[in-house]
Amino acid sequence: MNINEILTHLGEDRAQYFHAIAPPVIQTSNFAFPNLQAFRESFADELGHHVYSRGNNPTVEILRRKLAALEKTEDALVFASGAAAVASAVIGNVKAGDHIICQESPYSWTTALLRKFLSRYGVSHTFVDGTDIRNIEAARRPETKVLYLESPNTMTFECQDLAACAAFAKAHGIVTMIDNSYTSPLYQNPADYGIDIVIHSGTKYLNGHSDVVVGVLCASKAMVQKIFESELMTLGGILSPHDAALVLRGLRTLPLRVQRSNESAHYIIDKLDKHPKVAQLWYPFHHSFPQLELAKKQMRGCGGLFSVQFKTDSMEKMEAFVHRLERFLMAVSWGGHESLLIPTIGFYNIPGRSTQPALPWTFCRFYIGLEDPQWLWEDLERAMEVL
Ligand SMILES: *Cc1c(COP(=O)(O)O)cnc(C)c1O
Repeated sequence: MNINEILTHLGEDRAQYFHAIAPPVIQTSNFAFPNLQAFRESFADELGHHVYSRGNNPTVEILRRKLAALEKTEDALVFASGAAAVASAVIGNVKAGDHIICQESPYSWTTALLRKFLSRYGVSHTFVDGTDIRNIEAARRPETKVLYLESPNTMTFECQDLAACAAFAKAHGIVTMIDNSYTSPLYQNPADYGIDIVIHSGTKYLNGHSDVVVGVLCASKAMVQKIFESELMTLGGILSPHDAALVLRGLRTLPLRVQRSNESAHYIIDKLDKHPKVAQLWYPFHHSFPQLELAKKQMRGCGGLFSVQFKTDSMEKMEAFVHRLERFLMAVSWGGHESLLIPTIGFYNIPGRSTQPALPWTFCRFYIGLEDPQWLWEDLERAMEVL
């Protein structure tokens, strides 16, 4: 389906609500049944009817339909956070004794889910360098049930070959899932390659305004039904109707925002590429990226997130650089209107933390938002003078 059709029309039955352009926030916990027949029909299929807003809510349903269409899957669920979507997808597909293969550096709380949470329930895992399918194949055990991907991931952007991963998993009855937050549905649709479950932290591009925490899971009707009946209803990590309406508003401008971020990131990267204080750049479509060919094969663009290693000889200079930036905000997350940086040096010498980061203190992750890229570059160039 055409993206314009999805964003403007799909799921919006305006005759039901006074032909309003903006969908109503159906702020209700429960729904009344007009008669016993409706009562019985509703309990026969809770996801398809309106019973209680922990399950299905009309505002949330509009959002679900658009997200499923954007990811080209049959159905979708939304959650109160990306972490809830990740946890529900994984937990919904394993039981005690099962094994998970995961690419080696996913989002930090995904690592925590496998290491700290699922290990308590007898679910084991192997982290592998997913840039080579042979590592994934070699990690398989008879009890492997899930292959978890994040391609690209969100610090150094390693990719996995989605078609090869899906083919391997299908041959062995393994469920594949991917965290697709980096590209958004605009630039990569893993279902095209046969991946079973596509997950997003909708907090990032999908909502896009840095004011809602939201998670998304897109999959077949059967998979969505299974996770709805179990993880969503049991753990109850639902999105409120009010937040669903905010995400719907954010989605309207998804193509504009992501394209703008993408173009502005290219503008800044081209300048950084020639700058003497830059040691290395990480961006899947950058000429130096080791998996450039694969990235171009399965992605239509990258968006606004990239990383840089700077050339400097002292931590003091690196700290001065960070403090000199005035137009970038120092913050986690990304995908909103505002440009951001995470300097790895901030993870060094955290009080009470004994381990130091794997990435060097000269490393920074940047997100380019919707501002004028030239205005951002002026700030960056001025700050780099102290390196
Ligand atoms: C932010 C993020 C998450 C977690 O999403 P929340 O909405 O913060 O719970 C998961 N995966 C990736 C890649 C993320 O960037």
